[in-house]
Amino acid sequence: MRSGRKTVLDTIILKFASRCNLACDYCYEYAAGDASWRAKPKLASPDVFRRLGTRISEFGEETGSRQINVVMHGGEPLLVGVKRLDRLLSCLREAARPVEIKYSLQTNGTLLSPAICDILEAHDVCVGVSLDGGPEHNVFRKDLKGRETWERVSRAIHRLKARATNLFGGLLCVVDFDTDPEAVITALCDFDPPALDLLHPFITHDMAGARRKELALRYGRWMNEAMRFWLSRPDFAHISIRVFEDALQAAVSAYPRTDWFGRRSVSLLIVETDGSYDLLDQLKVIGQSSAGVRNLKKTVFDCSLLEAERIAWGLLRDAKGDVLPSDCADCRWREICAGGHLPARYSLARGFDNKSVYCEGIGALLDLAQEVMRAPQ
Ligand code: SF4
Repeated sequence: MRSGRKTVLDTIILKFASRCNLACDYCYEYAAGDASWRAKPKLASPDVFRRLGTRISEFGEETGSRQINVVMHGGEPLLVGVKRLDRLLSCLREAARPVEIKYSLQTNGTLLSPAICDILEAHDVCVGVSLDGGPEHNVFRKDLKGRETWERVSRAIHRLKARATNLFGGLLCVVDFDTDPEAVITALCDFDPPALDLLHPFITHDMAGARRKELALRYGRWMNEAMRFWLSRPDFAHISIRVFEDALQAAVSAYPRTDWFGRRSVSLLIVETDGSYDLLDQLKVIGQSSAGVRNLKKTVFDCSLLEAERIAWGLLRDAKGDVLPSDCADCRWREICAGGHLPARYSLARGFDNKSVYCEGIGALLDLAQEVMRAPQ
């Protein structure tokens, strides 16, 4: 086995489906003006899975990596259906040998039937479900007929939890600043997820416009109230709220673990249903012109993972996504936040050379995290 080529790539986000059975108002894929999904195959073909598998195998040989994370994503990845799902997961795992694949799935939860759960369990998949709180908070997550989805998703989460294995990986919530943070955290923690991700809505400076600072302050207020509440509840202490844990760790170590804080690197790549590589899915929020900053113009059929990683670094560097925005030069949190999540730094006029849309809110969250970590225990 050849080995030793340097890499930070450890995760592939694989689009199993380019369509979705929901129409969430805030979706970066379908509701932000990037229509590239229309030209993509509805489902990834077995050829894409086989070819990606051999790319992973080759990547292991070149780098010495023995394991890679594959996140099943969409659209809604479970639109592939029961029979196809089983075949595709086996096909990819087989082709990737000797590299081991660690599967996870991000789903809207509406298609998690018992039969699908059987397959996910057999393939040792860690399942993350998207949900924005209780029924009254989940109002943006409607299906294509405009019907609410909370009941269906709630049943699916209980179905996952009933399994003996660690099938249920956690919940992912897009925060609505108009909601009550305590009520949202309580509704989500009532499902007792092992982990909880709180995302801010993906918006650029062009989308925020004159409301930018107000949005940032509201984000900061919501997150700080939520973090104080989580810390005040010993019965929620075992639930990992990753953005808070990251803020707490980073506020004392200056070393964040995720790209919510900290400089962007290329530790993950997107593979679309046609096999094409992308830098970062959420950049689609930029709209029609996003292809220029995210599309590597290569596919699994003509480009290795290492070469794709190199091209992705080039894209990031060309767009100045890997350097501190000039607005952030004097900020006390610049080593941790580094300008924030990439899509929130973007404007048509200046590319990624802007502080985050959520700048003041990030600062407030890190201030609170530092206060908590410095307080006598
Ligand atoms: S908190 Fe604001 S100014 Fe500071 S690094 Fe983050 S985005 Fe830049």
